[in-house]
Amino acid sequence: MNNKDKRIVYADNAATTRLSVKAYEAMIPFLREQFGNPSSVYSLGRNAAKAVLEARKRVADSLGADVQEIYFTSGGSEADNWAIRSAAFAGAKSGKKHIITTSFEHHAVLRTCEFLQKQGFDVTYIRPDSKGLISPSQIADAIREDTCLVTVMYANNEIGTIQPVSEIGEICRSKGVTFHTDAVQAFGHVEINVKTQNIDMLSLSGHKIHAPKGVGVLYASKRSETTPLIHGGSQERGRRAGTENVPAIAALGAVIGDAVSGIAERTDRVRIMRDRLIDGLFERVPDITLNGDMTSRLDGNVNISIKGIEGESLLMLLDMEGICASSGSACESSSLDPSHVLKSIGLDDNASKGSLRLTINEENTDEDIEYILDKLPKAIERLRELS
Ligand SMILES: *Cc1c(COP(=O)(O)O)cnc(C)c1O
Repeated sequence: MNNKDKRIVYADNAATTRLSVKAYEAMIPFLREQFGNPSSVYSLGRNAAKAVLEARKRVADSLGADVQEIYFTSGGSEADNWAIRSAAFAGAKSGKKHIITTSFEHHAVLRTCEFLQKQGFDVTYIRPDSKGLISPSQIADAIREDTCLVTVMYANNEIGTIQPVSEIGEICRSKGVTFHTDAVQAFGHVEINVKTQNIDMLSLSGHKIHAPKGVGVLYASKRSETTPLIHGGSQERGRRAGTENVPAIAALGAVIGDAVSGIAERTDRVRIMRDRLIDGLFERVPDITLNGDMTSRLDGNVNISIKGIEGESLLMLLDMEGICASSGSACESSSLDPSHVLKSIGLDDNASKGSLRLTINEENTDEDIEYILDKLPKAIERLRELS
């Protein structure tokens, strides 16, 4: 069998998703025909500006936000950096220099908090329980007079746990503290409404919802102050300079409605495949444990620790079978450090290094699941025999 005919089972949708046909087709006109700069006065530019505005409206609708509260960024990481710095700088003006976050955030959040610590901010890192859940009371107890920001991710990218965001939002609102959530993994999987959930700031990424890489969104409510991260021209209401990434923004606008419609039916379908995968693995492979919570979990997330193996070696065997998966998080695969997420829920280094994440979505099929259930146990057996 040559490489072309090789079956590929993509089960790494938390790392990135495939561009949808709709997103692809929405990009094309803005690459060559409608290539104008949205800031230009002639119609070529105005058409581009119209596409950006239309996308902004759709993003706002999908979150229950107003159109003036949506800022396009280069991705989820930029949105996280921007939200956290904005809230920190706004807080510092009135002497509030305390930030609350969790120990298992995405690195875009953690590294920004570490940066701010070096600038004199005080950061509290809340630890999730062994299932990977934060309780609202932990947040309430950590809030102080000088707290300017609470930032808690909506759903975790490694173990898929979904946090009680509405409850945390209510606590923050009642105490007058800005609440930011990284909703990159949750968006399109749970119903989100920034107004009813008291969310002041929220981050999204295009490439996790079938739009292109290099585009994201920061929602920042009118109540919150946004300090520019990129200075320059007057794009994005003077708060985020740089000529808009029109093709990517148009693509995001084209698919964002699909991401938030029919969530219940779509996630039900994916959940059935996920549970078949989990049950099948537990039937076939001894000495494995499921990481994360079974109830408060993203529909497509499977994360297991496999006793006696190295995740990295397993990934290579799976790749030979055409299965794309990850161990820890993709950003970490260049380093062999155990995942900070798995460490946060109490796993030791061996359990963490022997972890495997499979993230499926609506594009996967029952045949994909059976294929993984055929190949994965054999690969584990081979590695265990070797060690
Ligand atoms: C992927 C991801 C990000 C980063 O988004 P980019 O668009 O790749 O910068 C941030 N947070 C979470 C939870 C993610 O999964």
